[in-house]
Amino acid sequence: MTAEAQPASQRQRIDPYVGQYAERAVGMVASEIRALFAVAARPEIVSLAGGSPYLAALPLDAVGSMIGRLIADHGEVALQYCTAQGDAGLRERICDVMALEQVRAHPDEIVVTVGSQQALDLLARIFIDPGDVILAEAPSYVGALGAFASYQAAVVHVAMDEHGLIPAALDEAIRRTAAAGRRAKFLYTVPNFHNPAGVTLAAARRPQILDICQRAGLLVIEDNPYGLLGFDGEPMQALRADDDEGVVYLGTFSKTFAAGVRVGWAVAPAAIRDKLILAAESAVLCHSSFSQLTVREYLTTQPWLEQIKDFRELYRERRDATLNALDTMMPAGCHWTRPGGGFYVWLKLPDGVDAKAMLPRAIASRVAYVPGTGFYADGSGGQYARLCYSFPSPDRIREGIRRLASVIETEIELRDDFGPAPGIR
Ligand code: PMP
Repeated sequence: MTAEAQPASQRQRIDPYVGQYAERAVGMVASEIRALFAVAARPEIVSLAGGSPYLAALPLDAVGSMIGRLIADHGEVALQYCTAQGDAGLRERICDVMALEQVRAHPDEIVVTVGSQQALDLLARIFIDPGDVILAEAPSYVGALGAFASYQAAVVHVAMDEHGLIPAALDEAIRRTAAAGRRAKFLYTVPNFHNPAGVTLAAARRPQILDICQRAGLLVIEDNPYGLLGFDGEPMQALRADDDEGVVYLGTFSKTFAAGVRVGWAVAPAAIRDKLILAAESAVLCHSSFSQLTVREYLTTQPWLEQIKDFRELYRERRDATLNALDTMMPAGCHWTRPGGGFYVWLKLPDGVDAKAMLPRAIASRVAYVPGTGFYADGSGGQYARLCYSFPSPDRIREGIRRLASVIETEIELRDDFGPAPGIR
């Protein structure tokens, strides 16, 4: 093939615009997960990598008929522009959803977004100047770190344990930031069934975290995609339920309905809400009316609470398969979290075993995971791997973990024979 016959994307190995990008674009790199998606999608590979919800569990025929009726009956609204704040009827239904976590919000306080990912981007856009400090759990959701990096934030990680964010560590991080003459713009936290750590902020810690943030005048961004996907008991009370001035709550229908509709939302104090609407307007004019009305119809005409119950049962079975397989197959020196909901287990590898270095060998053994390094702004976390159990069947999960355990055993043997790879001591 001549150079001219190749697609432009393959021809241009050297970027002629490299000196012309804004500084913020330099920090934009493909996440570890994106780079993995193409490989992990091959059918012979058990992917414990990407966090895709299991959509085959949705009643697709019923959803399809509902969408057909929506267009036939309300097409001139569903296919039209709308306001940047989002459809008023949908915002009312969102209040019903949040009531399950004791959040009492008015539809006026809600801004509809393109998934909660866009809310993260809009918040970064309105709050972050280059070099601004953001506090975030260690580890943190890779998509949030990507959004913050694209506005050149300096992320300071705050330690977690099996009960979530550690209040004393948060206190200390705020003190250290102040001692350096800085003030963090906000705390970014995922309190329920954390991505990637799989832990949940204990009920007793929630008022402590709020109290620390209130005393420091620190805004909290509560990102909560998995709160309704707990396997035991009732949903935890959201942080926003106890503080409607100091917390911006982010929700999404990606995990409880369908990720492809790309509908999420932010609940924010009035001043922040107004900025978010302006930022959304400049980004997209308005969000998809079609998607918003699809979700509104779904919440109005379909048994959505029953569906969430079905998702919970499905994911519980997969969580159990994951933990049982880890308990019986993982070699000594591995440790992992035991999630009470959500999609993720956070695996700590034995000393001297590096998740990133091991990945090509895992792929060759037909299992994929996400190395921990993507979840730390400073690139640490090499001893960790995120395992996501939402998509593969329990049998595939067991097979994937069997393969992974065998790869780790080989790594341990290599380590014992040759010592750890350079740079990871
Ligand atoms: N926050 C967290 C913690 C997530 O895990 C995800 C999805 N993986 C998102 C935000 C973004 O989800 P969406 O944009 O689909 O709502």
